[in-house]
Amino acid sequence: MPVNILFSSPGDWAAYETPLREALAQTGLEFDLRTDFPPDRVDYIVYAPNSKVQDFTPYSRLKAVLNLWAGVEDVVTNPTLTAPLARMVDPGLERGMVEWVTGHTLRHHLGMDAHIVNPDHEWSHVAPPLAQDRPVTILGLGALGTACARTLCDLGFPVTGWSRSAKLLYGIACTHGESGLAQALELAQIVILLLPATPDTENTLNAQTLSMLPRGAVVLNPGRGPLIDDAALLDALDSGQIGHATLDTFRTEPLPRDHPYWSHRHVTVTPHIASETRPDSASRVIAENIRRGEAGESLLHLVDRTAGY
Ligand code: NAP
Repeated sequence: MPVNILFSSPGDWAAYETPLREALAQTGLEFDLRTDFPPDRVDYIVYAPNSKVQDFTPYSRLKAVLNLWAGVEDVVTNPTLTAPLARMVDPGLERGMVEWVTGHTLRHHLGMDAHIVNPDHEWSHVAPPLAQDRPVTILGLGALGTACARTLCDLGFPVTGWSRSAKLLYGIACTHGESGLAQALELAQIVILLLPATPDTENTLNAQTLSMLPRGAVVLNPGRGPLIDDAALLDALDSGQIGHATLDTFRTEPLPRDHPYWSHRHVTVTPHIASETRPDSASRVIAENIRRGEAGESLLHLVDRTAGY
């Protein structure tokens, strides 16, 4: 009997069909991969939260849902999903995030804007400090936060990372829990949010925590919009407490055209392009998880439904 795999990620079939078939063939499994199946015949769903499958009840023999996105906030609370849920940890997604974070960190560290846009041809001969003198903090030390922390550390930045549980990462000052947050923020000249959106992480940056940062600190948010209290961030930008915010994710996407972020001179908006899952590498991750499922092995990257990520 073949393993029946439903691909249910709107608009992605053309990009995934060939690499996913190739990766599944490499496992040696007999499989049937399609975009449509009678629900009671489906073993695995390769899924995106904007899929038309929102009621999992008819999928009576479902063994797992394999999410194509790292963020699972739009599926993790679905009460009809009782099968295991795996999120995406993809080397391609990770590299993209490292490049976005490194690029935007260096933009602010080196003060590049002053030279890229210099209508008055000012000749201000002030060299930027070395990375070693620019403390950076990453909120979230998961797959993406850790990869970014390592690269920034290799570039010479003193990196502090914050997570829910205690961690030990070579070269990175790790803090955790509520008390660790103040410690992580107090020296951070650049703070990068790579937390998942959960009830516990909502408004992690708010009026109180923004005030813990050194004056003029820069905020980068490639994580999720709800991590920031937008009104508090706008106030902090207006007062100079925050020098600049580069935001890739928002509570409402696309960011509404009249949102104050678009016109604020100390805000850069990027349209949720920090990174994305790459079909070749992600297909290998999906295929490996299906192989594990069929071999009775534990799945990779399982979501903790209670923690919400
Ligand atoms: P992950 O591996 O699940 O890591 C999440 C990290 O957040 C972990 O270190 C976790 O702590 C920490 N965390 C969770 N809740 C916390 C809390 N209450 N307090 C302190 N730390 C907490 O996730 P990931 O793969 O790195 O991805 C992170 C997020 O990036 C995704 O959820 C998604 O929202 C976002 N993302 C954005 C884009 C984009 O293009 N903008 C692309 C991909 C992903 P523990 O280590 O202790 O569990």
